[in-house]
Amino acid sequence: MKLPFKLEVLTSWWKLGRSRRSFERDPEGHQARLWRDFQAEVLTRSPLYRDQVPAALDTFPMQQKAEFMRDFNQINTCGLDLKDAMQVAVDSETSRDFEPTIKGITVGLSSGTSGNRGLFLASSSERAIWVAAVLQRILGWSFKKRKIAFFLRANSNLYSSVQSNFLAFEYFDLLKPLQEHLERIQQVQPDIVVGQPSLLVRLAHAQNDGRIAIRPQRVFSVAEVLSDEDESLISQAFGIRVDQVYQCTEGLFGQTCAQGTLHLNEDWLIVEKEWLDDTRFIPIITDLKRESQPVIRYRMNDILHVGTCTCGSKMQAISRIEGRMDDVLELGGATIFPDFIRRAIVGAHPDITDYQVVQTSPQALTLFLPQEEHWTAAAEALHQEIERHGASGVTLDRASQKIHDHGSKLRRIMTKKSV
Ligand SMILES: [Zn+2]
Repeated sequence: MKLPFKLEVLTSWWKLGRSRRSFERDPEGHQARLWRDFQAEVLTRSPLYRDQVPAALDTFPMQQKAEFMRDFNQINTCGLDLKDAMQVAVDSETSRDFEPTIKGITVGLSSGTSGNRGLFLASSSERAIWVAAVLQRILGWSFKKRKIAFFLRANSNLYSSVQSNFLAFEYFDLLKPLQEHLERIQQVQPDIVVGQPSLLVRLAHAQNDGRIAIRPQRVFSVAEVLSDEDESLISQAFGIRVDQVYQCTEGLFGQTCAQGTLHLNEDWLIVEKEWLDDTRFIPIITDLKRESQPVIRYRMNDILHVGTCTCGSKMQAISRIEGRMDDVLELGGATIFPDFIRRAIVGAHPDITDYQVVQTSPQALTLFLPQEEHWTAAAEALHQEIERHGASGVTLDRASQKIHDHGSKLRRIMTKKSV
């Protein structure tokens, strides 16, 4: 029998609590049970996987977005065809109809260049689980009705479904001009603000200049890398800690705990680590809650750093999300992670906050910094950092502007391969 959506959220909320306690008691046993049941109940319905189960997880093929899309028709358990589903998703973006569904299944597109976009499905039960997870692990419960200002590139009924008697959900379309947002957020006076750091930084400046005066109790950073310098700017402007959510079209992967440390939701995710060095890894995700479109050993494009936390949870702590694998520079014969570039630049002068580095060829970089004095100091520090990594013959030019389409994600370090 199909439950009404709100009841489904409530049931999921209760199940998630139980799942978390079960994981904390016995992480390996919990995941092993879930994996066994998931194969029997879900993978037997997926044409790609049904002949392979039951088997050990590491015998399954690893997937990235390209394979995940190539095998779309065989992976999904709803009998959906990629062309039909893609058409519905693309049409809804152009018409800005934010409730695209096909056979009752919500479709969502991941960001990316056209032709390289991922298509993700969510059934009504999966949406209920997502809403329950957001309420339980991110927003927390409160009997007072709270207003949430949510800045998004495109809305989706996934997000709108968080709307309830206890949450008033104000959606801000990132494609609209900032001035419009400032006027509206001032009127709304949100209790909670959710947005990407480049947007939160602009709100922080507006707050500091007195163009807005808001008093959110919580601020969440999503979608982009939150650098230390942006974090301190935002948290000083609003007088509160900036929390992080590791959420992508692929799923809700993690959020900060009461101590402010990001943890991965390992009570429903199995996260394999592809190590890059002692602390950095690429997560390979198996999501044991997804039924419409099983996500099995999906290799993300992200670089995470393992961390520790004193909160007592056994779920993997992450000290930072460094960026995407696409942002790793292969420069002058050396491999340089984006964090080294970032630190060199902001360390060059205390007032540097707004910059961008673009790799334009295997031997060339451009650096954007509006002020001459900052540019000279940062260029010097950058040259030293590049040399320290053993790269040679690298040229550095000054860029006159940033690459940042209005409403899109801002990337401070980028390579041409990721443009
Ligand atoms: Zn913690």
